[in-house]
Amino acid sequence: MIEDYLKCFSKLRTDTSPTRWQATTNYRAPYKPFLLLAVMDLIAQGIIQTNFIEFSADLIDIFDLYWDRVMGQEKASNPVLPFFHLHRDRFWHLVPVPGKEQVLADMPQIRSIGPLRQLVLGVTLDGALFEMLLDKGSRDDLRRVLIETYFAPEVRPKLVELGQISAQSFQYSLELLGRSKRRFKLRESREGRDRYHTVSRSTAFRRVVVKAYDFTCAMCRIRVFAPEGQAAVVAAHIVPWSESYNDDPRNGMALCRLHHWTLDQGLVSVTPDYWIEVSPVVPTDEEGAKPLLSLTGCALLLPAERTLWPAHKALKWHWKNVFCAEAPTHLW
Ligand SMILES: [Zn+2]
Repeated sequence: MIEDYLKCFSKLRTDTSPTRWQATTNYRAPYKPFLLLAVMDLIAQGIIQTNFIEFSADLIDIFDLYWDRVMGQEKASNPVLPFFHLHRDRFWHLVPVPGKEQVLADMPQIRSIGPLRQLVLGVTLDGALFEMLLDKGSRDDLRRVLIETYFAPEVRPKLVELGQISAQSFQYSLELLGRSKRRFKLRESREGRDRYHTVSRSTAFRRVVVKAYDFTCAMCRIRVFAPEGQAAVVAAHIVPWSESYNDDPRNGMALCRLHHWTLDQGLVSVTPDYWIEVSPVVPTDEEGAKPLLSLTGCALLLPAERTLWPAHKALKWHWKNVFCAEAPTHLW
């Protein structure tokens, strides 16, 4: 009966404190409602199709979208907490890693991704609840209960909008993957940029590009995650979006913050056969510049999927218009 789950969703065990939590969340911790909204978004988009929920990059991404837009930067997002603690609400069942059943049963709290991955494979929901979540009408009813119970009236429209932004971001991800199979265009039309909300666009571009590089910096190959699960890399446009309106994954690469900045500043660029070139303006006699200089002649990390490799046209544009080459070169 959906009434049982509407009641469950309205009575989640959450931390309540007028000093720790703000009026917009009715002075309650919003971790669990945000995670359940994110799960519903993934079910609605067909990303979760069976009754097994993993602590995936998509789940973290959508949880963070809700958190950042409603809570701001005052409190750090942490999707690990509700992923573990929801098991106290009866309908959320942790699936232990084989052999770790007792350790997990004795664990009072998990706050970071390391122990979560060591002990938990994923989550199953009550079968009846999962069936309801597959149905749009029931899903909307359950979503409404979360929004009306845990959020003040003035932020409820924002949560509805975030649900739409999340859905649009998945549609745009699919569109970008489709675009990557067609001929590459350096610039997209200005009109195209207004079809999606800016946040949907950036979320989709990041999702597609960062996954293509398996969360690894294409230059230094760093692959690390915050304790709460967020990857260190971002999705960089090769030809800036303001110049090209182009979110084609072939106009992107996953880079750590430092190498994103060096690419944007023209201190590094990439040759037609995907070797990294460091600008001659970087001093060779400074100890502190050596980590950057050591990238010279290193191969760029490329996605496993050939259709997602950076486009030559985009790299050429970067070389000619952004790279501080000083002396003209004949590589392009
Ligand atoms: Zn890097």
